[in-house]
Amino acid sequence: MNDDVELIGDEELGGEGAADANAATILDASLREELAAIAGDGVRFDEPMRRHTTLKIGGPADAFVQPATPAQLGEVVRFAHRRGVPITVVGGGSNLLVRDGGIRGIALHTGRLRGLELVDGTRIRVEAGVSTGKVLSLALKHDLGGIEFLGGVPGSVGGGMIMNAGTYLGEFKDVTSWVESVRLGDGELVRRDNAACGFRYRDSNLPPTEVVVRAELALRPRPRAEIEAEVKALRKRRSEREPKKVASNGSTFKNPPNDFAGRLIEAAGCKGWSEGDAVCSPVHANWLVNTGRATASELLRLIARVRARVVEVHGIELHLEVKVLGDDA
Ligand SMILES: Cc1cc2nc3c(=O)[nH]c(=O)nc-3n(C[C@H](O)[C@H](O)[C@H](O)COP(=O)(O)OP(=O)(O)OC[C@H]3O[C@@H](n4cnc5c(N)ncnc54)[C@H](O)[C@@H]3O)c2cc1C
Repeated sequence: MNDDVELIGDEELGGEGAADANAATILDASLREELAAIAGDGVRFDEPMRRHTTLKIGGPADAFVQPATPAQLGEVVRFAHRRGVPITVVGGGSNLLVRDGGIRGIALHTGRLRGLELVDGTRIRVEAGVSTGKVLSLALKHDLGGIEFLGGVPGSVGGGMIMNAGTYLGEFKDVTSWVESVRLGDGELVRRDNAACGFRYRDSNLPPTEVVVRAELALRPRPRAEIEAEVKALRKRRSEREPKKVASNGSTFKNPPNDFAGRLIEAAGCKGWSEGDAVCSPVHANWLVNTGRATASELLRLIARVRARVVEVHGIELHLEVKVLGDDA
């Protein structure tokens, strides 16, 4: 690990199964063959993770696996356990910073788990790989309110549950009835009700030793015009404040209690700071963006500099909202 990383604090650098700093693949030919037999066309080897992150940063995953069903996902999980292969779970990649050495073992992607159905008129059952936008569209189609907060929030339902994604209008905590996960290791299915998920500001207690596969959302009837108006207002507000057409994770740091990370960073004079193509956006200081060919190590250096400066000026330590995964180059 390099110095920048140590500044960030170990608790924020994990990712279940993120392996040690050996960039060489740990999947030999026989393991690859075995995995291909289980995952079929749902596996790609030595897959650049920059293709799967909105920051467009990240070295190769030894195996990028997209199970087609929760049952197949269970098989992959049991294979990994049997063979001692680490698993790192990825969703829409909209909150990930994958290091330049990539991910050892399996990057398990939920993108093929796309089940989405309306139950009993007001509840939505949704698999982890469905995009937040699709859930919002289904709710709108059936005149159901409660998830207007998702307007402009990218990513998958699985990642949204882990992060308790949301905006000033609300968050997943407000509408989630239960979440089902597959346990890494034995591949068993676990269901938790809302309270057991431990949702809090951009975080949850959903364990990193599980893969979220499905959830149920409880919505309420609301006139479509009202839903549309609220989502439109949210999108407008966002487009006025947020950088456009640039590779990013949205906000890099969580807001500290009673303040805003963007305000603190701007007041500390960091707007426009850069490390290579990694830039503290001149539009919104809490967006540390990739303006071209930034590497993860450049972005991590920028994160460390901004963080140190905010401590120096305000005496406040910012915590990452972005999840850092994988190995150094
Ligand atoms: C332009 C932009 C704007 C954004 N605006 C907002 C905003 O307004 N509000 C907000 O809350 N967020 C925002 N974000 C951040 C991001 O959209 C959310 O954090 C989102 O919920 C991440 O979902 P994802 O599927 O992309 O997860 P990923 O980024 O792929 O993963 C996030 C975390 O969840 C874990 N994970 C993902 N899927 C699963 C699963 N199925 N099971 C177990 N673990 C899993 C990963 O290991 C990782 O730790 C923004 C991002 C961008 C790029």
